[in-house]
Amino acid sequence: MFYYFDPTYMLFALPGLLLALWAQAAVRGNYARYARVPTSTGITGAQAAQVFMERTGLRCGINHIPGMLTDFYNPANKTLNLSQSSVQGSVASVAVVAHEFGHALQDAQGYLPMRLRGAIVPAVTLGAWVGPLLFVLGMVLSMYNLAWAGIIAYAATVVFAILTLPVEINASRRGLQLLTSTGILVDPSELEGARKVLGAAALTYVAAAAQALLQLLYFLSLFARRR
Ligand SMILES: [Zn+2]
Repeated sequence: MFYYFDPTYMLFALPGLLLALWAQAAVRGNYARYARVPTSTGITGAQAAQVFMERTGLRCGINHIPGMLTDFYNPANKTLNLSQSSVQGSVASVAVVAHEFGHALQDAQGYLPMRLRGAIVPAVTLGAWVGPLLFVLGMVLSMYNLAWAGIIAYAATVVFAILTLPVEINASRRGLQLLTSTGILVDPSELEGARKVLGAAALTYVAAAAQALLQLLYFLSLFARRR
């Protein structure tokens, strides 16, 4: 991104990168482990989605999508999009489906961090690439107002990554409550497994927020050292 290599960049980039790699390893490890543990009730991820809808009275469409861990809830058309790995009868599968249904509940109840996050999406989409561009241009041309505008534009990305944390953690909390209250997971070791799978996933969002924040701090440190 820069026309010269700045060794202090590593100082800012490395902690976030290491955290991200660790989180990804935790996701893969926990997912692989609990994808092999069948639910003692025999319920699959696809069935769990039906149970959640009956229990909460919240109907949403279900789409089956290819891939592994590609699951997402789409608030635009109120659909749960479940991957091939999540429709199966494992502890990991029902945990992922419960988490996505947690997002559907947040959407239905107008959960504030989710609404705030949705509201800044256009600013984030633009700021993620315009911000660094303005910043570099401003620094190179010694137009510091322009560099500062770049920092502000990029800051939207950081706000988005930080707002993602309550959204993701709350979706997992709702999902785990549903898994317990519906009796889909009854064994304490199964619940522990679901908690581990979702906890590792939450860690990837913490890493993403840390990376965005450290990038912003790096821009600020360059700005402070200008001239
Ligand atoms: Zn999520």
